[in-house]
Amino acid sequence: NKMSIFHASIITLFPEMFPGSLNYSLAGKALRSNIWSYDIIDIRDFGLTKHKNVDAEAYGGGNGLIMRPDVIGPALDKALSRNPGVTIYYPSPRGKLFDQDFAHKVSKQKEIIILCGRFEGIDERIIEEYNAEQISVGDYILSGGEVAANVILDSVIRLLPGVLVNQDTLKEESFERKIHGKKILEHPLYTKPPIWRGRKIPDVLLSGNHQEIEKWRQTQSVEITKKLRPDLLK
Ligand code: SAH
Repeated sequence: NKMSIFHASIITLFPEMFPGSLNYSLAGKALRSNIWSYDIIDIRDFGLTKHKNVDAEAYGGGNGLIMRPDVIGPALDKALSRNPGVTIYYPSPRGKLFDQDFAHKVSKQKEIIILCGRFEGIDERIIEEYNAEQISVGDYILSGGEVAANVILDSVIRLLPGVLVNQDTLKEESFERKIHGKKILEHPLYTKPPIWRGRKIPDVLLSGNHQEIEKWRQTQSVEITKKLRPDLLK
């Protein structure tokens, strides 16, 4: 049984949320063929007292609960016992925004740890003590880090060698294509039938002239980016 090329240790209060969507399609197939693998560390196992408490009220007041460092610390130590040098990612709205470049960076690591927060978040001392890297999946608040972990892993897994049948697909996608160093969105996509509800596909796509098609796609990519994501071209 060969080692997978990418491994994620996921620390969570909700183990049943994994592999979740990662069990289907590309990621699921890659999981079954051991291109990537994961293990779960259940935070509840490190809960305190017979009630297995993992959280407590905030010092200084406020109505939310915070995950205790004396629970999360031992859970992280367990994850690190596999491999002490790995990066700990903490999905958090305060983190650096996750994007395609970030996905590429993560996909080059052999092993990572993802610490899924719940409630109001995790005691700050954990972030300092373990030098955890905060990653945000967007400027909105989720109720836990698990969905963010799924987003991160999904985008990373499809970059691993052997996951996409045709690696060339990667280069053609939104954010991968660049023009004058700027990331651009994908051109419009068309498939059968050639006429649908009276709507024809652009003639150039039937011309068989690959150079013309490529030129058309590039122009379309730029136009769409200008219209939908002008911030990318700044
Ligand atoms: N009190 C926090 C929000 C806590 S949400 C704040 O105001 O910043 C609970 C958990 O969900 C967080 O600990 C984090 O792990 C996860 N989470 C919420 N929003 C997220 C986002 N945009 N990106 C990544 N993780 C997020």
